[in-house]
Amino acid sequence: MKYTKQDVLRLVQEEDVEFIRLQFTDMFGTFKNVAVTSSQLAKALDNQCRFDGSSIEGFVRIEESDMYLHPDLDTFAIFPWRPQQGKVARLICDVFRPDGKPFEGDPRYILKKAVKEADDMGYTFDVGPECEFFLYHTDDTGQPTTVTHEKAGYFDLGPVDLGENARRDMVLTLEDMGFEIEASYHEAAPAQHEIDFRYDEALVTADNIMTFKLAVKTIAKRHGLHASFMPKPKEGVNGSGMHTNMSLSREGRNIFADPSDSLGLSREAYYFIGGLMKHIKGMAAITNPLVNSYKRLVPGFEAPASIAWSATNRSPLIRIPSRQGESARVELRCPDPSANPYLVLAVCLAAGLDGIRNQIMPPESVDKNIFEMTSEEKEAAGIESLPSSLWEAIQELEKDEFIKNVLGEHLCGHYIRAKKEEWAQYSRHVSAWELEQYLYRI
Ligand code: GLN
Ligand code: MG
Ligand code: MG
Ligand code: MG
Repeated sequence: MKYTKQDVLRLVQEEDVEFIRLQFTDMFGTFKNVAVTSSQLAKALDNQCRFDGSSIEGFVRIEESDMYLHPDLDTFAIFPWRPQQGKVARLICDVFRPDGKPFEGDPRYILKKAVKEADDMGYTFDVGPECEFFLYHTDDTGQPTTVTHEKAGYFDLGPVDLGENARRDMVLTLEDMGFEIEASYHEAAPAQHEIDFRYDEALVTADNIMTFKLAVKTIAKRHGLHASFMPKPKEGVNGSGMHTNMSLSREGRNIFADPSDSLGLSREAYYFIGGLMKHIKGMAAITNPLVNSYKRLVPGFEAPASIAWSATNRSPLIRIPSRQGESARVELRCPDPSANPYLVLAVCLAAGLDGIRNQIMPPESVDKNIFEMTSEEKEAAGIESLPSSLWEAIQELEKDEFIKNVLGEHLCGHYIRAKKEEWAQYSRHVSAWELEQYLYRI
């Protein structure tokens, strides 16, 4: 939606909105917000809402802590799950410094910068995500568990369980908020679900992913469930991915489409794939940001572990979905829903554009099941692996000057430091697995 200041003020009046939440996202992809009452709205719309940036991880030091929120009027939305009298609305904001310059560590700004570059080349970046998540029971004190009583699998339906009711409610709520839901279903693992919404321009999609996660968590709670976007909550069953479907358009035409090609893809599309494959190791710390992310990226669970692309099978990193023509697109399968969507889309776009600029042709496609290939076969075919741990991913990011540059010095420095600390903490931890393996035997 396109809104003016007057529209927002009028909507707040007409709809009896009492609170407006001013939202933004920290570097880890956590939604933050400050609420103002409607009496303060005019001030907020004049970009006068100040907050203490030093309290937000990865923002600024105490000495330079004042930051300003500039609401993006087009993101105005009412939360359908709040009371219908004295409603609650939100505006997603950009973060600015007191001198009026955009804050370079704001993930939304980093995506906007990448989008601007595409725009300068005449491209619009369109993205459709597929978010998967688990719905688990909570314990007596309301804490999330990994317990579920359902045993359903891919596309299964009824007997109507708590999860199915919750999912239906999520879809209706998201539609209320203006989402176009294309599909929703039970995924392969027990208690795992997927809801797909329509693609849009990258910035809208990143905002939508943030809103989506908030809505899904909120509605799950109403049903006495906990929604988790953790990539691999359980060993032995599929984890949750966020497949990212991407294409570029120019003047409303999808330029990834070329009917004369055997896969229906244009040269730009191949170069885009080439760019993604070139940078994917350096991007992994962004697309797969947690220690736990790498427990999903193992063979056998429909998640990629090798750097390859294919039109036919689902084991590789990049797949070309079959229905082409105007909907020609490239599906990147490694991102998981714990990632910061602004940063994911920024690095994907930049890597793809790097491919186009430098005409990077991807290697041959791999149409065998990679999970069944031995490491010797993979080596002979020149197929490399994705980083196998957060530690490896951080080291790859440190080596990729191009991706570091996309993220900018401010965010990249803070991000790498924080992720190293996360890894250090994990390394010090003595796990149940170790005790079970060693305590008795050694
Ligand atoms: N859950 C799988 C993953 O981790 C994807 C399954 C699917 O959508 N085919 O990516
Ligand atoms: Mg899907
Ligand atoms: Mg899926
Ligand atoms: Mg998919």
